[in-house]
Amino acid sequence: MVNAISILGCTGSIGRQTVAAAEHIGLRVAALTAQRQIGLLEEQTRRLKPAFVAVFDEEAAKQFKIAVADLDVRVGSGLQGLIEAATYAESDCVVTAVSGAIGLKPTLAAIDERKRIALANKETLVCAGELVMARAKEKGAEIIPVDSEHSAIFQCLMGRKPGELHKILLTGSGGPFRGKARAELEDVTPEQAVAHPNWNMGAKISVDSATMMNKGLEFVEAMHLFGVTPDDITVVIHPQSVIHSMVELVDGTVIAQLGVPDMGLPIQLALSYPERKPSPFEHLDFYKLRDLTFEAPDYEKTPCLKLAMDCARTGGTAACVMSAANEVAVHKFLRRELGYNRIYDAAAGAVAAVGVVQHPDLDTILAADQAGRIYVNEKF
Ligand code: MG
Repeated sequence: MVNAISILGCTGSIGRQTVAAAEHIGLRVAALTAQRQIGLLEEQTRRLKPAFVAVFDEEAAKQFKIAVADLDVRVGSGLQGLIEAATYAESDCVVTAVSGAIGLKPTLAAIDERKRIALANKETLVCAGELVMARAKEKGAEIIPVDSEHSAIFQCLMGRKPGELHKILLTGSGGPFRGKARAELEDVTPEQAVAHPNWNMGAKISVDSATMMNKGLEFVEAMHLFGVTPDDITVVIHPQSVIHSMVELVDGTVIAQLGVPDMGLPIQLALSYPERKPSPFEHLDFYKLRDLTFEAPDYEKTPCLKLAMDCARTGGTAACVMSAANEVAVHKFLRRELGYNRIYDAAAGAVAAVGVVQHPDLDTILAADQAGRIYVNEKF
């Protein structure tokens, strides 16, 4: 049972929805962190009255400290501040909603303190899945996924016995450019890529959904989280995003999790688990649901998905290099410095150029992340 939480990355899309879920189910928010968006952070701090707040950016941390000088709150900064928030004694759950490899050390520190990890940071498992899952098992820390697909799989597996799972059916909408050939996407603008048909998300993950790199990252995550091989996961395109993923059991039975496409639902469950509580979200109306359709992914049209699945098979640091390179490329695309199709070229180029290390430790993982970033910054 969770009584108090720390939110790492409280001003982003997932962070803001976590604040809303915590307020809805009446959880204490003991610690918050943000990168540098101190206006919103001050608002949240005044309302939630956390005991500790960390601002990653040192300069912004100084300004924030002055802004909340009248409050009874301690202010930290940098990676040390993030780690302090993640291990804050009063919190029994840490929501990791920061983006990038910066979430790794704080997550491992929280695992060492046996806190529940409500995992919303993809890089944690994409880059360090082996290490993080082994550490969580060793320490007895729970990892509850926040990503809608992984939350769905987690829910479908509730009460299942080991050996009953045959296959994970990872669903994805196909994004705004489903069915479009690479040649048709040459001139895609950031505005077009960010406009997702079903989900309202941050800019980076919206671009990843358009390229389907997001599904690829989720593929790698699912492999680690549920302890399966790449052959045990099938990607199914389901444009309506009503089914959030499924599991197929050994007897052929398929169990699916359905709901409105709102991240608030998996966030609330990660906080309230093992209990379920009423939510403020719309419920599904099966009289209004028309067609639920399914198709196989077209890997030629979605090379990023294929690349990620190949990296999952390669193992070691391959997915970490790919993810870091992709992140830099997506930000360049959002700044209009790189064409849409070049995002794949950058990620694939980095994977080909940077050597793979199997069973990496944390320093090797962080070095692989850096190598992926340097490659794209130098070559693109
Ligand atoms: Mg997802």
